[in-house]
Amino acid sequence: MNRGGKVAGKPFDTVMLLLVQSLFHLMKVVKLRIYPTGEQEVALAKAFGCCRFVWNRSLQLTTEAYRQTGKGISGLTLKKMLPQWKRELEWLSDTYSQCLQSSVLNLSRAFVNFFEGRARYPRFKSKHKRQSLQYPQNVKLEGNKLHLPKIGEVYCRVHRWFEGTIKTVTVSRHTDGRYHASILIDDGSDKPEPNPDGKAVGIDMGLKHFAVTSDGEKYNNPRHLNASAPLSVESSTPLGLKKHERNLKRKQRKLSRKQQGSNSRRKAKRLVARVHSKIANSRADFLHKLSRSLGARSLAPCDGAGSHRKIVNENQVIVVENLAVKNMVKNHSLAKAISDVGWGMFSTLLKYKAEGEGKVYLEVDRFFPSTHLCSETLLPLPKMGLNVRSFECPHCGQVHDRDINAATNIKNEGLRILASGTGAAASGGNVRPKGGRIRSTLPEAIPTEVGSHSSIASR
Ligand SMILES: [Zn+2]
Repeated sequence: MNRGGKVAGKPFDTVMLLLVQSLFHLMKVVKLRIYPTGEQEVALAKAFGCCRFVWNRSLQLTTEAYRQTGKGISGLTLKKMLPQWKRELEWLSDTYSQCLQSSVLNLSRAFVNFFEGRARYPRFKSKHKRQSLQYPQNVKLEGNKLHLPKIGEVYCRVHRWFEGTIKTVTVSRHTDGRYHASILIDDGSDKPEPNPDGKAVGIDMGLKHFAVTSDGEKYNNPRHLNASAPLSVESSTPLGLKKHERNLKRKQRKLSRKQQGSNSRRKAKRLVARVHSKIANSRADFLHKLSRSLGARSLAPCDGAGSHRKIVNENQVIVVENLAVKNMVKNHSLAKAISDVGWGMFSTLLKYKAEGEGKVYLEVDRFFPSTHLCSETLLPLPKMGLNVRSFECPHCGQVHDRDINAATNIKNEGLRILASGTGAAASGGNVRPKGGRIRSTLPEAIPTEVGSHSSIASR
């Protein structure tokens, strides 16, 4: 059901949808902009503060325990400490207790991710950054009113109606002053069984091109998009990231000239934060379009004009390299470019979209030598510099494109894993049991769908 019709105007402030993987059901996240009154803003600020306090205190205790014993503290143990803290600090009781409990449980999940090698050590939350809190239940949405326990009815813009049960709701305040609610919805539909019968594709991700497929398609890095080229046909923001970046630099220069603590400095800071969120939105939009690609003409492969083949739509098995992005970001010369192109986010999107449609998503180990094998003969290639983009193969005599050769190797390795029938891989699960995506603690930890999402909702 779609009473809101086509979402027009500012796509980034409106409704975003994404399938989230759960054990049995498909979950969706709807992100709404909300408009608290002055009074509600004060109440929210207090609640954010209490949740932040609980997170930071739990983090401190866990860190101490970890230093002394090498082990953390379980979420359950921390949760049991909450009543005592409330007796000590009366103001904690002003905040809905389930939000405080969520804060504790999210921290313990962050520690699990850390201990299992998927994330870095949890950090203290600052009141100067983005604020958030989570309601595990008891939030109601009626018309344009979102009812938040202890806060009241907050006006929100709903452009698109959805059916299903509201699970958790995360309320956040961006540094530019906007508020959002990310609503996790269980629509009761079952997750399709993964079916590996069909076309397979391998994807090699790199800096020169954002992604190269084994079919020979090359996708430009979003950083190289021209300012005059629209990011998407439907998007009303015809800005390339470069233009945003110039804008950001200018606003940051302005900010640096403002006096500490002045009113104009606070304003300038908001403007900088706003550009940051625009950049994040453009990037998210690019990644969504690329992983799903609905009518994004500007995202046509940069060679092979006219072919608009889309990765998830056209393939049943999708194989990517497990890049261990967090290890690569340590390399400073590449760091900015890597975080800009967002490979990690891209693979997460591919995984969710593929699995949401019963397709198979596989990550092959990053130690798999995809660039050092001939994809025809599987024989090792001599070492070559990063600047060598294509070469004549000493084994098969063909001229291989370096990236397409790598993507083909990735595809073949994925198919080999599938054919060897290791249960986990065949059912579309993790090939590497310990790796995998970071378990998200908040619905919006998963990037949200921007703009064209209709075919995702209509199953
Ligand atoms: Zn060869």
